[in-house]
Amino acid sequence: MARLEFFGVRGSHPTPNRENLKFGGNTSCVVLYADADVDGKFPLILDLGTGLTRFAAHQPLDGSFFGTALLSHLHFDHIQGLPFFAPIDRKGARLAVYGPSENGIELAESLRTLIGSPYFPIVLAELSGEIAIETLDGGGIVLDQPGSPKVVPCLVDHTNATFAYRIEVDEKVVVFMPDHQAPADNATVKDSVLDLCANANILIHDAQYTLAEFAEKAHWGHSTYDYALEVAAQSNVKALAFFHHDPSRSDTELESIERHYQDSGSKGAIHVFAAREGKTVQIQ
Ligand SMILES: [Zn+2]
Ligand SMILES: [Zn+2]
Repeated sequence: MARLEFFGVRGSHPTPNRENLKFGGNTSCVVLYADADVDGKFPLILDLGTGLTRFAAHQPLDGSFFGTALLSHLHFDHIQGLPFFAPIDRKGARLAVYGPSENGIELAESLRTLIGSPYFPIVLAELSGEIAIETLDGGGIVLDQPGSPKVVPCLVDHTNATFAYRIEVDEKVVVFMPDHQAPADNATVKDSVLDLCANANILIHDAQYTLAEFAEKAHWGHSTYDYALEVAAQSNVKALAFFHHDPSRSDTELESIERHYQDSGSKGAIHVFAAREGKTVQIQ
């Protein structure tokens, strides 16, 4: 059975504060392993936020690291872990990164600009391992690794070019949608999103705001808890992980929100939970 491990669940920026360490302060990074990958040597990494540095702690430093990353978009909270990812700074190590182009600029060019002088002391091309960066054009790909995961990207509403991903592996479906602009009515779901999420075993979805906060920040590119649940319900999703927690959200608030939506989610037989750093989920 495929499994997910959450290494970074926060949105916008890291929050290493006492009041939110239970859910975690690292930014977007989730890792998926296929059942056939018995030794966990072929991680499929969803986003490269600061949670990637926590993931790195369990990875080989002898040049044998081999991973594939699906990048949602180029905002800092989704890429900042990459230049500090020590396992790829070893001869022989390999990381393939897939993601969207931005205004006609290839993904590789954007990453090389962002990860280099004067923004970072580390230059991507100077890392000892090989990072292969490929722009996806919206078509699906099948990854050549255990479980042969099938990956379908879909452009979703956000402030810039942003992919959500549907991943099919071990006859299970995972959908990763970390940043997603909710519509003004918090109810309408585009057909492309419904298709992407259809019958997923788990949907990891942007849930940055309450409805009251959304009223103030309706155009900041994010979703509400209610909208995440609406997308899950309309798509017949089995489990919903609230993700991309607002930096201001304390553990106490998140626990209370989680309890509230577990009640409303269970009405539609959807298992709802707030993603936590360090949590492992067996995909049911
Ligand atoms: Zn984000
Ligand atoms: Zn973003």
